[in-house]
Amino acid sequence: MSHLNVNLIKCLSDNYSYIISNPNSKKAMIIDPAEANPLVDAITKLNLNLEYILITHHHQDHVDGNLELKNKFNCKIVGFADDSDRIPGIDIMIKDKEIFNFEDEEIQLNFSPGHTSGHVFFYFKKNKLAFVGDVVFALGCGRIFEGTAKDMYQSVMKVKSLPDDVKIFCGHEYTESNLKFCLAYDQNNNYLTKRAVEIKSLRSKDLPTVPTTILNEKQTNIFFRCDDKAISQKLGLEGHSEEKVFKKLRELKDNF
Ligand code: ZN
Ligand code: FE
Repeated sequence: MSHLNVNLIKCLSDNYSYIISNPNSKKAMIIDPAEANPLVDAITKLNLNLEYILITHHHQDHVDGNLELKNKFNCKIVGFADDSDRIPGIDIMIKDKEIFNFEDEEIQLNFSPGHTSGHVFFYFKKNKLAFVGDVVFALGCGRIFEGTAKDMYQSVMKVKSLPDDVKIFCGHEYTESNLKFCLAYDQNNNYLTKRAVEIKSLRSKDLPTVPTTILNEKQTNIFFRCDDKAISQKLGLEGHSEEKVFKKLRELKDNF
């Protein structure tokens, strides 16, 4: 298996775009180009050959670089077949659960609605990487714009069901504000208090808090912990379903 490198590229105010490349072949792909310029610079500086752009969802801050990058590097744009109308410049349309091959890596597209009705995440099976767009964030989950709480719950659970050692790359640096919310409702979680120290240290140096891992999120992300008794108790929802706890947490976070 070839090992893939991931370069995190800061874009706009708090977006992350990603460049994934094979260091031997120099072939590369981008996930969610929030804007063209920083990505053109990075691709050029790293001396990479950009072949594909993969899109998690149609929001402007995830597709704005599409056309300029496609013109400049003659790459192909890949996205979810059912949302192809909203993805600028799309060339290759993929269905839910379908595998897209990048050299010897198998990238699985997973339908994950809730933030938008056509949101997907990409799971790199061999390198164990997941690019989750705005479904899951470090210590949080995406806002519900085009779906129901049930959609979002199921999408977050899909991410949660990946193996513990999978690295998660999300679309934004929202970790510090997510941390405040988690601490408000999960204050006795030792993993969380320990992680809070790490996050504060990273952010004080303006360093990214991503990637995270599935295991780390299971231990500390309140939206992954709807089955935890202390949390359902705190919300007055003891004995209720995980989905109900999730819905309540999402509502509370919207107004936090
Ligand atoms: Zn979005
Ligand atoms: Fe976004």
